[in-house]
Amino acid sequence: MALIVQKYGGTSVGNPDRIRHVAKRIKAHHDRGDQVVVVVSARSGVTNELIDRAKSLNPNPDEREMDTLLAIGEQETIALTTIALHAIAVPAVSRTGAQAGIITDDAHTRARILDVTGGDIKTQLGAGKVVIVAGFQGLSKDGQVTTLGRGGSDLSAIALAWALKADICQIYTDVDGVYTADPRIVPDARKLDMLSYDEMLELASSGSKVMQARSVEFAQKYGVVFEVRSSFNDEPGTIVKTEAPNMEQILVRGVAVDKNQVKFTLNDLPDRPGVAAELFQALGVQGVVVDMIIQNIGRGGLANLTFTVAKEDVPRSEKVVQQVITSLGGGKQMPTTDIAKVSAVGIGMRTHSGVAAKFFEALAKAGVNIMMITTSEIKISVAIDPAQANIAAQAVHAAFDLGKT
Ligand code: ASP
Ligand code: MG
Repeated sequence: MALIVQKYGGTSVGNPDRIRHVAKRIKAHHDRGDQVVVVVSARSGVTNELIDRAKSLNPNPDEREMDTLLAIGEQETIALTTIALHAIAVPAVSRTGAQAGIITDDAHTRARILDVTGGDIKTQLGAGKVVIVAGFQGLSKDGQVTTLGRGGSDLSAIALAWALKADICQIYTDVDGVYTADPRIVPDARKLDMLSYDEMLELASSGSKVMQARSVEFAQKYGVVFEVRSSFNDEPGTIVKTEAPNMEQILVRGVAVDKNQVKFTLNDLPDRPGVAAELFQALGVQGVVVDMIIQNIGRGGLANLTFTVAKEDVPRSEKVVQQVITSLGGGKQMPTTDIAKVSAVGIGMRTHSGVAAKFFEALAKAGVNIMMITTSEIKISVAIDPAQANIAAQAVHAAFDLGKT
């Protein structure tokens, strides 16, 4: 008998038929004698719909009220899933995030988990019931409903798996697992059987939107092994876990493409200590996440600085840049450019040389011009013209032989 935590995403519970299908899958585990805890998301589209509705009434809705609103989506699916289980004679009970003891801080719309008590889940499991838990939502210490940031049901599932010491944590989604690249961009992309937390994190934050990055961080911190797999078939998915020595033999595990970035360039900034600090602090205060950064000294001893942000952060970033330039008493902002970021990720890069050379050679042969380059221990990223993003990803994927054999 195993204790299994399963998570079903919005597409998997998107309509009554799909919910019925999920219920059957849960029943199969329950019939085998396993103890099953299921975390569900809102039906796909519901969270966006609720956000749009709030914004149609007020472009700047209060964040506490947003959490009260957004929690509805998951509350609908826990009840419906439980009702569907009852219809096929599976004993089941639903629990909200609060009832499951998901305790968070009070940072509304992006709350961090402080503790997971599990509430009475163990008792319910002991009584033979399946427990269906609302993902994405929690309760602050002073009793307010909170949410864990977009995609937060992944985090709910990982955190519950940790708290309940589950034997298995399965993240059911609408793809078969984690691929070497997005199959819509690179047709011969292959499903990976296994990858490390570090690789998953770099892929998650480089444009492969399979899972919420924070949930992968949590899993890594607490050593929660999980599997990403499809709710539409019975194929094994991708296991994500701590790296093993043999995993390092692969230089590049996957290629990620992020077409949602915009490049800012500030020229003729004063060249003195504190300039970058002032700019990036101001962006941080506004909640702008900066990705790539490059600075160099131009002619006349003035500094040129380039950085990228997500498209939705452009208006806020524009404002900050103007304020900082005024406050510094120097510098001018150049027009922004849409860019795509193409990254190669693999823990083998730590111990092997020549990866960068091969990566750049592949881009050169494909005629792709590079605007920016950044690297980490296990990743190389370039900013390029979005029109060339697909060609670039295909070229890198081929150069490292990542395709089906
Ligand atoms: N429903 C929430 C969202 O759309 C949480 C989730 O689906 O994981 O972001
Ligand atoms: Mg999701």
